[in-house]
Amino acid sequence: MDSKKPPYVVRPTTAVLTRGFDPSLSVGSARPAVFRSSTYVFSSPESAERSFAIALGRAQPRPDENVDLIYARISHPNAEILEDQIVPLEPGARDAAVFNSGMAAISTIFFTVCRPGNTFVYTTPLYGGTYHLIHQILEPFGIHGIPVRAGDTGMMRKTIASARNLRVVFIETPANPILTMTDIAAATAEAKQHPDSPLVAVDNTFLGPTFQHPLECDADLAVYSATKFLSGFSDLIGGVILARDPSLIAELHGTRAILGNILQADECWLLDGRLPTVTLRMNRQSKNAQRIAEDLARHEKISKVHYPTLFEDPEQVRIRDAQCRFPGAILSFELKGGKRAAFDFLRNLQIARCAVSLGGVETLVCHPATTTHSEMSEEDRLNSGVTDSLVRVSVGIEDWRDLLHDFRQALDAIGE
Ligand SMILES: *Cc1c(COP(=O)(O)O)cnc(C)c1O
Repeated sequence: MDSKKPPYVVRPTTAVLTRGFDPSLSVGSARPAVFRSSTYVFSSPESAERSFAIALGRAQPRPDENVDLIYARISHPNAEILEDQIVPLEPGARDAAVFNSGMAAISTIFFTVCRPGNTFVYTTPLYGGTYHLIHQILEPFGIHGIPVRAGDTGMMRKTIASARNLRVVFIETPANPILTMTDIAAATAEAKQHPDSPLVAVDNTFLGPTFQHPLECDADLAVYSATKFLSGFSDLIGGVILARDPSLIAELHGTRAILGNILQADECWLLDGRLPTVTLRMNRQSKNAQRIAEDLARHEKISKVHYPTLFEDPEQVRIRDAQCRFPGAILSFELKGGKRAAFDFLRNLQIARCAVSLGGVETLVCHPATTTHSEMSEEDRLNSGVTDSLVRVSVGIEDWRDLLHDFRQALDAIGE
């Protein structure tokens, strides 16, 4: 009898090193070449006609058809390689789009699916740039955002159910900077029952792609600031969107071609080289952060540490256990002694550096109330837990004992 074995499927950390790149197309180079051309020579006039028909959506490519590249604002080889190689890192994804920043990725979602008169639901608090996009750019265009507090599952379901002309549910979880979690599966279940069939997009920058998998919770889009953990060295700006449905990615590619916000060749090449280590880096960063968070929780100068393993609210514990595999590299804490104590602490650090951004191999610490969250009204800010005594830490891959020693000496020296 002919008993055919199913094909062997490699795991994500292997796939990221083996798929999506053909050395023979880079003169045998073991790493992709960088293709900086702005325009591409067609193999024939017929092929040029065919490429335009496909790029403009008048025709669909046949499976395995080799479509000529046209012009680098539309796509280029390094973007195509990166988009192929990143797919296995996001469970459930079948296609990806790369952008020249996380904000470019987020903006492109709204400009692709929303028109004046449409609404979207979003969780608060949100990344400062997204907050600015919603209030200063989308709102004046007549695209109306409806906020819902992160972590309030019942209110989120009600808000989604009662929204009209609803196009998008945009979730950031865990929410920056006190890590409040939102139930992705509850949002997608509610969105599925809605007559407008809104897309559910999850900003997965904080825990993905290693520790949280939105597409497995039925979300339509997993969105990244690749500037953070994906790149990991605080030396490039980029964004990525992944989806189960390739036609959704094709639509985003179409908007991107006109906005001109594709990730450039050199940046694609750099980011591509970082993908095989993202899981290694994030595992080490999460282990470091957990040891530090749990130790600092007992420190006499700290009144509260925000970190997933220290959650007390039963709903937060439930969401964490349902959708996160590990607690991640971000923690924040409140100091006794308010803003003065927080500033003293930042000034006293000798290993960790005072900077915004996160996800790099080096440890960074900031004061959200006066920097990343300073655009919020005082009321919104305090309601979101961004007090004057709060500092946020992005833990790197240094030896955790050295970091803890640094934090302790900086705490001891407060007020001196
Ligand atoms: C940094 C960040 C963004 C924006 O990404 P850029 O690459 O800076 O444009 C969006 N969301 C979250 C959660 C972020 O941390």
